Amino acid sequence: MTPTDNAPIVPPPTEIPETISGASAGRETGGEVAVPNVAPVVLCKNCNAILVGRYCANCGQRADVHILSTRELVHEVLEGLTHSDSRLWRTLLSLWLRPGRLTEEFLAGRRAISLPPFRLYLIISVVFFLIVSVSQTSDVQVIQFSLSDKPAVKTPLSGVNCDSMTISNGTHPDWDRRFQRTCAEIQRDNARTLKQNFFAALPKTMFVFLPLIAFLNMLLYWRPRRRYAEQLVFFLHLQAFFFSAGILIVLLGDLAQHWPQVAGVSRILRPLLGWSLPVYTVLALRRVFRDGWPATLLKTFALSVAYFILGVLTESVAIVYAALELHV
Ligand SMILES: [Zn+2]
Repeated sequence: MTPTDNAPIVPPPTEIPETISGASAGRETGGEVAVPNVAPVVLCKNCNAILVGRYCANCGQRADVHILSTRELVHEVLEGLTHSDSRLWRTLLSLWLRPGRLTEEFLAGRRAISLPPFRLYLIISVVFFLIVSVSQTSDVQVIQFSLSDKPAVKTPLSGVNCDSMTISNGTHPDWDRRFQRTCAEIQRDNARTLKQNFFAALPKTMFVFLPLIAFLNMLLYWRPRRRYAEQLVFFLHLQAFFFSAGILIVLLGDLAQHWPQVAGVSRILRPLLGWSLPVYTVLALRRVFRDGWPATLLKTFALSVAYFILGVLTESVAIVYAALELHV
């Protein structure tokens, strides 16, 4: 593997491929113009500027915009996963080993060296929700700091007489009937569909949860004033760490169920991973917002409470949404 296998995504501005040298001699409008002994001029497909290098200097679009074949796509994914110095792994290592570092670098303008915050968050959250939804021991609590009660989907309404249930005390018979039908449906398939709907709704509710928690943190760190977007970047990174810890917690739990040999390791590692969340948050807040230790610890506590309350609210909304989606 040579450095060029894994060329930096954004080339230094001085790097001009030799194939383009002398290209301006053959400058004409429209598509490629072949000039004897001179490399063809290539125009940006987005803005028609002359391309020099792998990105358009005018609009920033990649020079190479051909649609990937399935083979190229698989190759690209495998390359990203297997090259230890790829941007994905560098970003993940930075995320896991240096709390707050990714946010700090992003805010300082050093952006090309790691994955953009939102893409990183999306990749990890997709894996997280996939694993949680197929896991035997899925522990939705890892989203929060706190050891709340199991979510309601874990306890189907077994033994409850749905017909006697009411949410409006008879003032809205339609609501009551719908509620009773929902209850009966949940009993009928042992909450399986409800659980599926719940896990489908959770990733969407995160797009409300993260902006809200970022806003609350903005209140905590009122001075010196930070932009709201900076808060969002911080929480995309923080939540990406939480989800990756959650992935390990769920996987360890499943492994321990199938192989009793790893149960001991799992029993030690899972609580450690759980405790890594508040510790990580303290370190990340301290690195990015640069308060002293006492203030950082106090704000972490306040943030944990907000995280917990918002987390419970988010899960509740997801459960209600899941129940409404039952089509009863
Ligand atoms: Zn362009």
